[in-house]
Amino acid sequence: MSEAGERAKPLLDWDFHTHTVYSRHAHPDMSVLGSLRAAAAAGMKRYVILEHVPEISTRRATMQFWKHGRNERDQLDAIAADLEIHRSNFPQIQILRGVEVDADPFNLDGSAMLDDFSGIDVVVGSTHVFPGGEAFWFDRVRLPPDAGLRVAHQWREWVVRFIRAGQIHVLAHPGDLLGARQLIPPFNAPEIAGFFDPVFEAMADQGVAFELNELLQRKIGPAYRESYPDLIKHARSFGVQFSLGSDAHRTDDVGRYEWVYELIAASGLTEADWWNPPAAPA
Ligand SMILES: [Zn+2]
Ligand SMILES: [Zn+2]
Repeated sequence: MSEAGERAKPLLDWDFHTHTVYSRHAHPDMSVLGSLRAAAAAGMKRYVILEHVPEISTRRATMQFWKHGRNERDQLDAIAADLEIHRSNFPQIQILRGVEVDADPFNLDGSAMLDDFSGIDVVVGSTHVFPGGEAFWFDRVRLPPDAGLRVAHQWREWVVRFIRAGQIHVLAHPGDLLGARQLIPPFNAPEIAGFFDPVFEAMADQGVAFELNELLQRKIGPAYRESYPDLIKHARSFGVQFSLGSDAHRTDDVGRYEWVYELIAASGLTEADWWNPPAAPA
């Protein structure tokens, strides 16, 4: 890359989506202290440490177990306890506590799988499960050939209710389930023009940010990765703002953006498009 190109690269010194060992599926180096050291080394100025509710781990490999994780927030409280000890060693970083909470896939009423958000600064909302709760997004579910769009519409109505319920600040990795399981054609396909309108309208109304998630590139197929800037530009046209997250599960990935830089360049996002988290209580 030319020097001018290097200079043009915006400085992204925040990361609003990082996991810890309390996920039970992150690398052992991702203790809260390990994570904070990595954030400092990466020059982060604002940083969200979060964990899943319900927990998604080998312990929760079945829907049955996952379902029982509703309202279990020990992992969030464990992060808080560690932050009590280590936070003061990192005065240069604004550290926020987060949760990555799933929408309830069983009732599809827009409620979250957690009722008690006390002590949480940033609520990132996800749909890691198929609407109806049969399977996780990564399960290779066999759908009849005509079922994709039907499930996609079900997902859309559900996520609009989730956004409009007013509990989340950020929608995590939008398009993940749809793109990973190819429930709709790629994001630039004329057949689905307008498909996301109700979602982006709801996000703009509620001030819910669209997350640019570095890890998402590994979850969706090439045609979805390549057309992702179209999805971003479409969201932006509704006045939606954008959050940034590495979704790091190991220290090497903290604050590390590669695909996200490409997305920003390809979709022409500027400083005015960044979402800012609510300030943490002093
Ligand atoms: Zn996620
Ligand atoms: Zn995550």
